[in-house]
Amino acid sequence: MDNELLKIKETDARCYATLFNRQNLCFTHGKGCTLYDTAGNAYIDFVAGIAVNCLGHAYPPLVAAIQAQAERMLHVSNLYYTREQAEAAETLLAGTIFDRAFFCNSGAEANEGAIKMVRKYYYNRGEHKPKIVSALNSFHGRTLATATATGQDKYSKPYAPLPDGFAHVPFNDFEALKNAVDDETGAVLLEVVQGESGVVPATYDYLVNVYALCRSKGILLIIDEVQTGIGRTGKLFGFENYGIQPDIVTLAKGLAGGIPIGAVLARGAVAEAFKPGDHGTTFGGNPLACAAAKAVLDTIKDPAFLQDVTDKGAYLQDRLMPLRKYNFVKDVRGLGLMQGVQLDPALSGASVVGKMASRGFLLNCAGNNTLRLIPPLIITKQEIDSMTQALADLFANTVI
Ligand SMILES: *Cc1c(COP(=O)(O)O)cnc(C)c1O
Repeated sequence: MDNELLKIKETDARCYATLFNRQNLCFTHGKGCTLYDTAGNAYIDFVAGIAVNCLGHAYPPLVAAIQAQAERMLHVSNLYYTREQAEAAETLLAGTIFDRAFFCNSGAEANEGAIKMVRKYYYNRGEHKPKIVSALNSFHGRTLATATATGQDKYSKPYAPLPDGFAHVPFNDFEALKNAVDDETGAVLLEVVQGESGVVPATYDYLVNVYALCRSKGILLIIDEVQTGIGRTGKLFGFENYGIQPDIVTLAKGLAGGIPIGAVLARGAVAEAFKPGDHGTTFGGNPLACAAAKAVLDTIKDPAFLQDVTDKGAYLQDRLMPLRKYNFVKDVRGLGLMQGVQLDPALSGASVVGKMASRGFLLNCAGNNTLRLIPPLIITKQEIDSMTQALADLFANTVI
């Protein structure tokens, strides 16, 4: 192990919160889809900072936008207008079904904002519909309300008492959802591909039926696009693959390519639920984050760019499919450049991640022992080939 890594690890162990199970890697810089560590080793990045670095590392137009903005002003607060915020909102909404955008700083904050928006909408109408139904094995964030919305006990149980009004149903089970909604249900909150719990796409029929149910019962539909949004699935929003029209979507991860940001987009009457002072943020939508978001959106919203993501997603899935011949590969699934390889519990995904790192490839192991492949959207077919070849070689030499 190199000395710089040792020194940083020692400081981290002494000073930093005891929260993270980190890999034995410390990065210094990146370019395109490659990251470099303290020892100068190169790694092809199939993690992208957990679906954040959608344009890879040091993408020139994004670097230029951030540099130019830093020289003008970083922050002024929402006490004032800024051109950067207005333009980022306009660019984000253009050509979508949404009427209004609100910028915050993270995915959890975006979902927290969406939950508050729904509650405020019914409050304005004098209707008692506080209940929000979400899915088991979902992930919506780590604030108290979003950890409660998250259908995994491990994220909420130790933090009781939890906010009221959340119910959970099995994912991809329409009957269960239909049975869970009642007169007090104000909204359904779902991901189109459950990311953290192991890259599980919603089935087409499920989302179409959920959408029809919400329409017929006057229930709002919130789609959490924090991971699936901003081109990840080959569409600007993952829900576009299903032909549905949610009332609210939440965004974060890829939206500003690595600068922290979140967003709530809403349409129709619910978009008007908040009045001045009802909700807010100090940092959210500041000029730096918005200049970065605009640079990302100017690249991602190009139909040719999104088509390329679709093509490369299919290409990646095609190259992963043959791995199913190994008895320890349980499933290969995903949408666009969000693919999962579910492994038998007898083969630890974490050990595969470690072995791939020593071969120069960064992978992540999500829930359910599933390798999660979420590379920068600018990944090339050659980079996909070299990773899938290395994984195939590793599996060919793995016996369980
Ligand atoms: C990552 C994620 C979140 C939480 O985002 P943070 O920025 O970590 O708060 C919420 N929902 C989904 C679907 C996510 O993938």
